[in-house]
Amino acid sequence: MHNPQLVDPFGRRITYLRLSVTDRCDFRCTYCMGEDMVFAPRAQILSLEELYAVADAFIGLGVRRIRITGGEPLVRKNLLSLLARLGRRDELEDLAITTNGSQLAELAPQLRAAGVARLNISLDSLRRERFAAFTRRDRLEQVLAGIDAARAAGFRRIKLNTVVQKGRNDDEVLDLLEFAMARGLDISFIEEMPLGDISSHSRQATFCSSDEVRERIAQRHALVRSNRATGGPSRYWQVVGSATQVGFISPHSHNFCGDCNRVRVTAEGKLVLCLGHDHALDLKALIRRYPGDRERLRGALLDALRLKPERHHFANDEQVQVVRFMSMTGG
Ligand code: SAM
Ligand code: SF4
Repeated sequence: MHNPQLVDPFGRRITYLRLSVTDRCDFRCTYCMGEDMVFAPRAQILSLEELYAVADAFIGLGVRRIRITGGEPLVRKNLLSLLARLGRRDELEDLAITTNGSQLAELAPQLRAAGVARLNISLDSLRRERFAAFTRRDRLEQVLAGIDAARAAGFRRIKLNTVVQKGRNDDEVLDLLEFAMARGLDISFIEEMPLGDISSHSRQATFCSSDEVRERIAQRHALVRSNRATGGPSRYWQVVGSATQVGFISPHSHNFCGDCNRVRVTAEGKLVLCLGHDHALDLKALIRRYPGDRERLRGALLDALRLKPERHHFANDEQVQVVRFMSMTGG
């Protein structure tokens, strides 16, 4: 039987889906949201059934890894029921979640039991006041307890995600790395991306390149290139003598679009083909107009792939190229 797969005009095979399940969040990280956010009305957000239909169509077309994101995915009601359904899909090689960690103390064992294999947990500072300044919420202790609960729950890998800003947490790079190493976790250091118009800080003044972060680490720890390839904008290094891998996510200083294997679906059901572009296909309109029509959905996905751009064009300046917050598209 002919089994079409998702391949874009540049020959890249799409095997990875980031699925955002909500645009809401219990934090207000300054690089991601304003303090007063207007969230989409609930009716505009894909239902759990619709989210499953989208995931199912992608799996049918060759997607083998799904990452659930948001907003904060764990604030979505009954998310566990969606995860359990996806967790039963044998075709999936990887089911992962990106979370701010605030609910993990309670939910980690249930996530693991539902079939989630890997977690990314955001952590920008180990100092209470700084953490509160980053997230606008005084919840460091809760997140650290969540990280402990996740370790105890037996996930295959847990990775911390740290957005590095000059003058705000760049002096904590080694502390964060050693926190990860002491716990057998991986860690990625992320350059801030120009997504969404925020007023809390000047992105140019706080920009800290991955090269600077790597140099800081190299002063104390030897790093060797890891052969792990993700098909995304991140490259991994092994800390010599440790289980920890360090990733650098550098949309500014490097361009890895050539082997991009991923697409995103927003909580509102927009298929976003590239984080740096505004091309999007409204899957929600299609699903609601033709409920249960799996063939039509598959056809629309195959057609949409023809629009996947060759590369993004983020530049390191203050101009906001894409007026869309990360919490809408999912990080
Ligand atoms: N709420 C979850 C969390 O914080 O992990 C999942 C969604 S969040 C949008 C996913 C990731 O995107 C987080 O690691 C966050 O630090 C990162 N992020 C958000 N806005 C960003 C920006 N403007 N530049 C770079 N990373 C960003
Ligand atoms: Fe929420 Fe994650 Fe955005 Fe922070 S980065 S505001 S935790 S969605």
